[in-house]
Amino acid sequence: MADRRRRGTGTNQEAVRRHNLATLLGHVHRSGGVSRAQLTELMGLNRSTIADLVRELEDLEVVTQSTPEAGTIQRVGAGRPSIDVKPAADSVFVLAAELGVDTMDVARVGLGGQPLDRMSATTPTNRDPDALVDTLVDMLRAMLKTADDRSRLVGIGMAVPGVVTDSAGLVRFAPNLGWTDVALTSVLESRIGRRVPVHIGNDAELGALAEHTRGAARHMNNLIYMSCDVGVGGGVIVAGAPMMGASGYAGEIGHQVFNPNGQTCRCGNVGCWETEIGSHAVAEAVGCPSSEMHRLAEYLQPDSEPPARLRALGHSLGLGLGGLVNVFNPEMIILGGVLRWVFPLVREDVLEALSEWALAAPAEQAQIVLPALGGDSSIIGAAELGFTDVLHDPVEVLAASTGATATIIGA
Ligand SMILES: [Zn+2]
Repeated sequence: MADRRRRGTGTNQEAVRRHNLATLLGHVHRSGGVSRAQLTELMGLNRSTIADLVRELEDLEVVTQSTPEAGTIQRVGAGRPSIDVKPAADSVFVLAAELGVDTMDVARVGLGGQPLDRMSATTPTNRDPDALVDTLVDMLRAMLKTADDRSRLVGIGMAVPGVVTDSAGLVRFAPNLGWTDVALTSVLESRIGRRVPVHIGNDAELGALAEHTRGAARHMNNLIYMSCDVGVGGGVIVAGAPMMGASGYAGEIGHQVFNPNGQTCRCGNVGCWETEIGSHAVAEAVGCPSSEMHRLAEYLQPDSEPPARLRALGHSLGLGLGGLVNVFNPEMIILGGVLRWVFPLVREDVLEALSEWALAAPAEQAQIVLPALGGDSSIIGAAELGFTDVLHDPVEVLAASTGATATIIGA
């Protein structure tokens, strides 16, 4: 195997082979399983090249091959059954974290995007970055203990409710955590070392990525994912690519001025959209006291008659969605966070306000839906971020990775 890896080192041929390995692994990861015949078609390479590439990834223990069961066999060419190639989810995994204002979630996610294990904890009340990272490290270590010793951790991805610069590992501004310019990646690396690539992303952008890759908006190129908890954010995908803005700060739809006579927002402005439709506004509308915020979903049961204040909130939601439809002409807007419970209750009010405010042509094209990944969109997106490096160059990342337990425990 080592000889084969070294073959052609430093040549174009080697670069092409590494690129093809990465591309093939990406197809297997995103599809969750694909036949060699389909890979031949997707990559435009001949069957023997695909077979060689798959064998090399199999040697690296990142994919498995099997003959499909009878009845599901796909015939190719002269009628030979095509081999199924699947991600080796138990062998290669990432740790994904979603850092919320009230709760923190961590999941161990296998190659192929399948959550293997997960846990939640309460966010430290002062939301101090050091205290939060201490809790996070405890959770990451607990997750590693459930992994097989031979499986390999290849990345850590974190979803943050704020404006982030991944390349600098920096949370520029997260008003609901009270953070400005927190070097989150460095703080984490000071605890666990730098053996594993760490990436951070905005929670709404990661929600959009996950729903686009393996959720409600697969096969769509123009979509918006709205994260809505204490804060409201948007992940916007335009023409198949995330719309990041000049420095990656685009999508802060919660901080659009919506009601200049409204409440002061955590960002310092008055009347931002998130003060009208965020989880605190929802709690007020349904009479959920602030001490009971963790039970908010129970106040939003599907069979309950929505109070007038919740219907008014639905109207505000619809007007804002109408504005998004006018600006972005999306095929789909996915309502995440607390809106997963709000929207079914006030659907009519939302859609009526939307059609009132949106121009007719883009409104006809926009579907308003709930996330196919339920409450997991952002954490699955964080996992996708964690897989970035191994999907870019599996040979290099896997050569550097060691057994899970050895990687972080004791760091
Ligand atoms: Zn604001």
